[in-house]
Order: sequence, then C-alpha cells, then structure tokens
Amino acid sequence: MRVAEISVGAIRHNVARVRELTGGAVIVVVKADGYGHGAAIAAEAALAGGAAMVATADLEEALTLREHGIDAPILCWLHGARVDFADAVAARIEIGVSHLQQLEAVAEAARALGSVATVQFKVDTGLSRNGAAPEEWEALFARAAELVAAGLVRVTGIFSHLANAGDANDRLQAERFDAAVAGLRAVGIEPDMIHLAASAATLRSPHLHYNTVRVGVAAFGLSPFADQTSAQLGLIPAMTLRAEIVALRGVPAGTGVSYGFNHVCETATTLALVPIGYADGMPRALNGAGAWVTVAGEHRPIVGRIGMDQFIVDVGPLAGRLELGDEVVLFGDPEQGHPPVEIWAGLMRTINYEIVVGIGPRVRRIPV
Ligand code: PLP
Repeated sequence: MRVAEISVGAIRHNVARVRELTGGAVIVVVKADGYGHGAAIAAEAALAGGAAMVATADLEEALTLREHGIDAPILCWLHGARVDFADAVAARIEIGVSHLQQLEAVAEAARALGSVATVQFKVDTGLSRNGAAPEEWEALFARAAELVAAGLVRVTGIFSHLANAGDANDRLQAERFDAAVAGLRAVGIEPDMIHLAASAATLRSPHLHYNTVRVGVAAFGLSPFADQTSAQLGLIPAMTLRAEIVALRGVPAGTGVSYGFNHVCETATTLALVPIGYADGMPRALNGAGAWVTVAGEHRPIVGRIGMDQFIVDVGPLAGRLELGDEVVLFGDPEQGHPPVEIWAGLMRTINYEIVVGIGPRVRRIPV
C-alpha cells in the first residue's frame, strides 16, 4: 500500500561513480537505517558497488548489520558514555575512538576477551563535534602505541569530518588533519585508511580525498548541494516513495478538503485518496505549499491538510483514466518523471537528507 522502492542498482552505480571519481577506497555510511533506505539493503548494495567498508554512527547499528549477515568491515564512531566494547570486539567492528577514556575501555574489552580491538581515530579538526581535540592527540596516540605494542589494539585508520563552511575552512581543517596524521605516524603507527571527505568534498574537492572517502548521501544518489542536481553529478536517486489510490470521488465546486478546509475546490473535480501521511514522514506542513505527485505519469497537486495516514490529490483532468489501486509516486528519480525529493526539502526549508531519513517504519522498504 505504501512502499519505498530501493534501487540496488542505483546505489551500486553511485558507489562505483564515487570510486571512479576518487580512485581510492570508499566507505559508505549507512547509519540511521541507511539514511532511511534500509541499512542492510544499503550495505549490501554499497559493497556490491565496490565499497571497502560500511559505517554507522553507533555500535548497535553496526551489530544489527552483522546480524543481517554483513560480513564486511564495519566502522562506528558515536558511543554512549558507558558502552561496553566487548560486543564490538567480538563482532570485529572497527571502533572509532575519540578520546583516551574510550581507548582504555576498548583495550579493556580486548583484554577481557583475549582478543585484539581494531580502532580508527576520530579527530576533531574544527567541526566542534565528536572527535579528539588537537590538544588531546599527543597523549591519545602515545597511549595507542603502548596498546599496540601490548597486542591489545590495532589501528587501521584516522578520520575527521568537515564543516563544509567554505574553502578557507576546509583548508584549515585539512591542515589540522595532516597534523593529526603526522602525529600518529610519529608514534610509529601507519593507518591504512585516511579519510576526511564526506559526499560534498568527495564530489567537489579532489584535494581532500586522501586515500579513502566516506560518503553517505551521494551513495543514495542525492546531491549534497543546493545548486547541483543528482543527474548533474552523475548520481541516481535510490529511493522511490510510492503509494496507491484507495478512493476516488467526484466533488462539486466549493468542496472543502481535509481538516480545516484550507483547500476549497474552485471547480468541480475528482479527488484521490492516498494512504500515506505524516506518520510516514510526509511533512504535514507540505499542505498548501505547492507540492505535487505523479499519477499516471502526470504531475498532480496535493490538496488540503496532510493527515497522519492519508492525503488527497486533485486528479480532475485524469479522472476518467484512473481506477483504485493506481500508483502515486511521491518522490523518486526526476529523470523518470518523478518529483525530486528536493521539492519537499525546499518547501520544508530543510535538506534532502532529513526527508529520506524521516520516512517512517510503516513504509515497507523493497529492494528492486
Ligand atoms: N562522516 C560522518 C562522521 C558523518 O557524520 C556523516 C553524516 O552525517 C558522513 C560521513 C556522511 O555525510 P554525507 O551524507 O554528507 O556524505
């Protein structure tokens, strides 16, 4: 009744495109249920497209991927204050380490299991979020060298995240990142993966590619830029949000539609009822904003207030051609005539990321 079709081929294509652009290793970020696309579907497709690794924010997400049979390297980097890293070590999850206390907790877990923990250092180069601050690097790396020597820890990478606040800021962050990498090498640790660029820098700043990039939104075929579309970047949007017509009704001029009657039909027309609403991540405030869907290949306006489970489309000119069960596409690939998700994002003054990640759990994800 309401489905998000996830094009595995599109994700594969997008990851291959990023590989072609950078020539290095690609980590695909599948946090937040694969940006709403389904984490396991996204991870499998990304790996098939040549990703070297997938990544999540927290450990639970990483472990869920293992439960779904994803055997490839997985990195996660945002940890609760008292998280037990034993599960991570046992499941061979690479742990993003942001401070000394975390490093000690990771080493403790490895010691308890009689195993070796694999870590990548997350350093803050200016975003002012997660990651070790520059004044912590020396002590952190020195301790890492001891733990490596003790056979408790293996360091496979170092990474940081950009604010994307402009070229000058990127340059400053890159300089600090270089200093962090040098600091790690100074204690005798050579990281395999050195990564700073997420989608925006991957697509526009080749000088920030290092030997690995870490992309989320681009893998899902969405543009991180307001001034360039997916197609202009050679990407294919992977999610198509579809529903069906479950009622059709001819109404006279003057008919009020949905709560509050903030849409009144100017002429006699036909209304189609579509069973998807704000509980499913369709922003309620789209109401009256000019959003449209495709019905039988035609653009038709959403009218009236969006409900929790349903909304209405004015299908007047198509009335004779429609029947119950006909498909409605809420957003998808504009190259196939569907509304781009960026229309909703623009109307909601947000970014495409927030729309796809907000598609709710009632919407079945179907890999196609
Ligand atoms: N790296 C980190 C640390 C992130 O938090 C994110 C997402 O927010 C990404 C990479 C992926 O970013 P994008 O989707 O812009 O590629």
